Amino acid sequence: MNLKNAFKAGLRDAKSSQPKKYRLNFARDVDTDEPGVLILNLPAGFRFYDELCHTRGFESRAELNDAVKWAVIPCDCPECQRYQGA
Ligand SMILES: [Zn+2]
Repeated sequence: MNLKNAFKAGLRDAKSSQPKKYRLNFARDVDTDEPGVLILNLPAGFRFYDELCHTRGFESRAELNDAVKWAVIPCDCPECQRYQGA
């Protein structure tokens, strides 16, 4: 990749990540080991809006989908920064 293309790709990344929006990756982010509970582990850079918390359990897929839609916001807490920077 030449410099110009690298620059363009960077611009595209900057655009697409603004505003940064969490997209559910069920296989990667949801823990279904416990029966009756779906545990959503947000990747570094996201948290739930109402508390400084990156993990939450849900009783149904619908509930989880709702939370993904409305309750997940970007996070830049020290923990997230540590994982993102790595
Ligand atoms: Zn965080």
